[in-house]
Amino acid sequence: MFSTAGSERDSQPQSSTPPDRGTSTTAPANRPAATPARSTTRTTARPRVAVVGGSLSGPTTALLLLQAGIDDVTVYEAVPASAPQGGGLIGLEHSSLDVLDHLGIPQDEFVRHDSEAVMQITVCQRQPGQVRRHLYAGRNTTWTLLHTALSRRLPTDVLRTGARVTGLSAEHDQPLLHFADGNTAPADLVVFADGRSSTGRRLLDPQRRLHYAGYVAHRGQTTSTQPDLHDFLRYEPAEHSGMQFNVAPIPDGADWTFYLSATPAQYEDFFGAPPTRRVFALPHHITAAARTEVDASAEQYLPDEQAALVHATTTRMAAPVMDIEPPTQMVWPVGAGHAVLIGDALAPVRPHTARGANNGIEQAWGLAAALTQHRKYHADLTTALDGWQHRHLPAAVAAVQLGPELGRQYGLGTV
Ligand SMILES: Cc1cc2nc3c(=O)[nH]c(=O)nc-3n(C[C@H](O)[C@H](O)[C@H](O)COP(=O)(O)OP(=O)(O)OC[C@H]3O[C@@H](n4cnc5c(N)ncnc54)[C@H](O)[C@@H]3O)c2cc1C
Repeated sequence: MFSTAGSERDSQPQSSTPPDRGTSTTAPANRPAATPARSTTRTTARPRVAVVGGSLSGPTTALLLLQAGIDDVTVYEAVPASAPQGGGLIGLEHSSLDVLDHLGIPQDEFVRHDSEAVMQITVCQRQPGQVRRHLYAGRNTTWTLLHTALSRRLPTDVLRTGARVTGLSAEHDQPLLHFADGNTAPADLVVFADGRSSTGRRLLDPQRRLHYAGYVAHRGQTTSTQPDLHDFLRYEPAEHSGMQFNVAPIPDGADWTFYLSATPAQYEDFFGAPPTRRVFALPHHITAAARTEVDASAEQYLPDEQAALVHATTTRMAAPVMDIEPPTQMVWPVGAGHAVLIGDALAPVRPHTARGANNGIEQAWGLAAALTQHRKYHADLTTALDGWQHRHLPAAVAAVQLGPELGRQYGLGTV
């Protein structure tokens, strides 16, 4: 996804110590004035839930929890409401589509082209060769459509924008979030859905750091429709020539992604900061050098029609492809409460896997199920969260491991 929040957020963690039971470990350097103290641990079956991140995984979680009768839910999003945001094509599998259906979001609100077809086209010396057609067990949306559909359903008092979380501590045996502006907020359960550069991951699982895989997903969106473009087209090199290109229709245009290798120094030259710091390059970060490189690569690798599409695209973005160690844990105790990681915060996976948003939505669904059992039938919350982790961790690990395999197939990057 591409958002204004993503650009500069890979700053240093507030603390490298995860908050443990009964300790107070991860307060920001300038500790704000104390929050109204809660002298007793909340053992209610209606836990107070703080969701960090208002992109896809966060709002999905919040809506599912509200629907499940967990009525004390707040979403904290770092980006101010006034900041323009937008992002590209995302394939959602049936599992995710069903979750959105369950939330009462009509599919045609976020799926504007309902083709299930994927045309896999082998490219040899710029000529399209063999075409294989298969069907995708899902539908394509865009980050913009999905984010809009989700966030417009969040009650206004649930979403707090411009609220950047910087720390987490256990105060009075309860998780306490700390914000950049000095505010704090208590919760029983903190759901970190704060993306690839997750503050939550840095606090809870500091050993797992992002590292650059050596290639870039260059993206573009055209504003003119292509009458013949109905399906998702995937252009793959006949040999491991180090590129891959996808294009699909979106409302009022086409969305393409062009994967190309780039050294860390080239990345910095193209987008003005190292890949671990600029985890999304927004249109205003795209330098002339990046544009020239992408145009030249289009001419070198792609059939004429696709190269012309790239050349004509003015709105461009990019994301460095990143790797991370597979997660071993999704849930941490914080005082008598808990913190969890979901979506890209847990495991930012390579985009070829088309699993990032799907993982987040499926994990949100599973989390709501665990909390429903707690709320309705007084299931032990720690055990319910352990069960949730047990069910969802393997899929996240598999997606992390699949990414490098796919990159190798295309001859992309340094692995
Ligand atoms: C080229 C490309 C193609 C992709 N294609 C697919 C696909 O086909 N299928 C698929 O499933 N996935 C795909 N993905 C991945 C998908 O976009 C991500 O997995 C998804 O956006 C992750 O959603 P998220 O809500 O977990 O995290 P994000 O979308 O990264 O959102 C995190 C949110 O947290 C906020 N935030 C960050 N830090 C803080 C903080 N400290 N305090 C408060 N808020 C904070 C951010 O502002 C942001 O709004 C693709 C990604 C790319 C780059």
